[in-house]
Amino acid sequence: RKRIGVLTSGGDAPGMNAAVRSVVRSGINQNCDVYAINEGYSGLIKGGDMIHKMSWDDVRGYLSIGGTLIGTARCMEFRERAGRLQACYNMIERGIDALIVIGGDGSLTGADTFRDEWPGLIKELLDTKRIDEKQYKAHQHLNISGMVGSIDNDMAMTDHTIGAYSSLSRICTNISWVSATAESHSRAFVVEVMGRHCGWLALMASIACRADYVFLPEMPPTANEWVGKMQSVIERHRKGGRRSTLVVVAEGAIDSELNRISPEMVKDALVEIGLDTRVTTLGHVQRGGSPVAFDRLLATLQGAEAVRCVLESTPETPSEIIGIRLNKIIRVPLQESVAATKRVAEAISKKDFQLARSLRDSDFNE
Ligand code: ATP
Repeated sequence: RKRIGVLTSGGDAPGMNAAVRSVVRSGINQNCDVYAINEGYSGLIKGGDMIHKMSWDDVRGYLSIGGTLIGTARCMEFRERAGRLQACYNMIERGIDALIVIGGDGSLTGADTFRDEWPGLIKELLDTKRIDEKQYKAHQHLNISGMVGSIDNDMAMTDHTIGAYSSLSRICTNISWVSATAESHSRAFVVEVMGRHCGWLALMASIACRADYVFLPEMPPTANEWVGKMQSVIERHRKGGRRSTLVVVAEGAIDSELNRISPEMVKDALVEIGLDTRVTTLGHVQRGGSPVAFDRLLATLQGAEAVRCVLESTPETPSEIIGIRLNKIIRVPLQESVAATKRVAEAISKKDFQLARSLRDSDFNE
């Protein structure tokens, strides 16, 4: 029987549990033993009870629970070869030679490095007599596949990441609560949302919640000009009859000189034009709670494909992650996807940005 390990790593995202459930049950359906690895790569290095076999019933209820029940972590030791050597030993000791990783681009890159190094690692374990010839021969190759669990929707070559729509939905709910009080007092609210490098959440929230203005990491406004521009747009909206003002700021928003645009700076600019302004930083509520139906489905479909992927992969096939494109679950070469993610902010489309502006501003004509 094939033995598959599954772990969650990096920042948690709603839907990770649904992905683990799908891997466990799809694996069992394919006559495999599935081992959950607690606390991401830390658990893989620690071994012991951190790596345990999962039964069908162990994942009962996982589908709709937020966060990750098997735990996640950031693990410095796994960045070093010595850490990966110990991880390799712990896997071979249990007869595991397939690994499914649910995490962001860092976690997936780590898995790919681990797979590349595997032949050297097992040779070293044999030479130092930590494993015997039989174990060495039985675990020549490490099969991996990955799923992207990330609220930021920040991976290239896939349309959606697990958790992004749950987070967006939570942001919209929170903004609608804030908007009710803003409307009552005729106030302005500056809402900071997550997204250090990727403004997908901020942009989509600004469309879905009819924000007056949005600041993103990918589309920096001209330094020294953005304050005046924003003020004139918002004054125009107020003259046009809006009783409240909403500005969405991504955590990583910057101007053309790469200076951070903080919610406080935006607030000061709104106070300058006479608006009673409050800042709301949504923080970790954006990560919490039950995944929306889309994330449950995405994670379930991708989990089943991830199992098929590790069972079919050979030493010759490149490491793959499971994506979704045009509503179809697909396999994407891991290295290409990570490289494209670093190169371009593919998730943000200029068209969406212009749509956001054209719908909130009748004078918009750029
Ligand atoms: P998030 O999108 O939430 O930041 P991430 O997976 O990109 O998720 P990272 O902190 O970059 O988060 O990575 C998580 C863990 O994956 C690290 O703590 C480390 O254990 C492992 N990892 C990341 N990059 C590498 C790498 N280049 N080599 C080996 N391991 C890595």
